[in-house]
Amino acid sequence: MSRTVIENAVVATVDPVGTEHARGWVAIDGTRIAGVGSGDAPPELTAGATRLDARGHLVTPGLVNTHHHLYQWLTRGYAQDSILFDWLVALYPTWARIDADLVRDGAAGAMAVLARSGCTTVGDHHYVFPQGSGDILGGIIAAATDIGVRLHATRGSMDLGVSQGGLPPDFAVETTDAALTASADAVARYHDPGSDSMVRVAIAPCSPFSVTTDLLREAAVLARGLGVRLHTHGSETVEEAAFTLERFGMGPTDYLESVGWLGPDVWMAHCVHLDDTDIARFAAAGTGVAHCPSSNARLAAGTARVPALLAAGVPVGLGVDGAASNESGQLGTELRNAVLMNRLAWGASSMTGRDALRIGTMGGARVLGREREIGSIEPGKLADLALWRIDDVEHAGIADPIAALTLGGQPPLARLWVNGEVVVRDGDLARADQDDIARRAATASADLAARA
Ligand SMILES: [Zn+2]
Repeated sequence: MSRTVIENAVVATVDPVGTEHARGWVAIDGTRIAGVGSGDAPPELTAGATRLDARGHLVTPGLVNTHHHLYQWLTRGYAQDSILFDWLVALYPTWARIDADLVRDGAAGAMAVLARSGCTTVGDHHYVFPQGSGDILGGIIAAATDIGVRLHATRGSMDLGVSQGGLPPDFAVETTDAALTASADAVARYHDPGSDSMVRVAIAPCSPFSVTTDLLREAAVLARGLGVRLHTHGSETVEEAAFTLERFGMGPTDYLESVGWLGPDVWMAHCVHLDDTDIARFAAAGTGVAHCPSSNARLAAGTARVPALLAAGVPVGLGVDGAASNESGQLGTELRNAVLMNRLAWGASSMTGRDALRIGTMGGARVLGREREIGSIEPGKLADLALWRIDDVEHAGIADPIAALTLGGQPPLARLWVNGEVVVRDGDLARADQDDIARRAATASADLAARA
């Protein structure tokens, strides 16, 4: 088994007590973390190992992305000044023309940027499946495998077209039965429940305004029967709350609870508009939240009550959301954006940089149900690690190395390990050709635009 020892780095373990080492080491054995500590690494660990002198660097757990729509890489820069519902209506006709080849090329672009921003685990929410579009999930999984990131894919769906009172056009939705059958098939084909799994699948009807009550209810039954998690959008905007109030006579949390969607196996994106009662019910149920600060700002959806969620014990992770509402696509920068947005909304002491690092790592691991395997630097966990350079001109001399990452500009990424494999080296993808990915993503974006 190959061993690598990272030495002389600042180490932020994000373990349960937030242990940090001003000069420490991390040892990787194969796919797992063999040890972590302060000062010099023990000679019995360095003997015969590949040694990496990482002075001037900060090592953290790899970042965990809990919400994305990778295919939206193909539609960056559209509907730049719209709120969510107008933005969706503007984009649905274009999205309805995707196919597996285009999505694979767009997803590769999105995941290249995620990896280069410190992300080791990618959560994706894919919910547009035009007829005859091929194996879209298979394309996303192939792109993740090429780049080397861990993937939590979801088989999403929409079955509530505009003629039935939903938001999406009828040509963009599936039947309820087709969505359920395809969801079960995706789990059977691609879900790996193993502890070192590189691909897991969850079931993810899109949102209360694009999915029928039957599909929500049946999807929850299906997922629980198959032992996989559930994901959707919830309480993103005031318009969504008005929709559920008018159609069902209740707010989004009441509605989702009424169809079996509050539970420890569920995570929801955004959850911007939760009141105290909603938060208490999320906490009691153990339902997780994907906090997407940049997307919420881009669409002027509001600021999620992350400090209140954390105080109540709700699992909270970070998400970039789709690149059509967050053209950056970087997860590393979401750490800083989470701090800034929450402080603007909830006050100076509402969130620290270390809080942001915790939700971006362990928080995300909890949200995805992987807290025993990833999210912190602890012996026995999978070796998903980010090594940030903080002796560059932008960060050198900063009083607190953690602030270089959480309050400063995103530091250059010296290395990214996923499952013990180097996925990024000196800022560039190590296993895939990022120039080729860029070319293919540009061509796919142009092809899709020409189809629309
Ligand atoms: Zn989303």
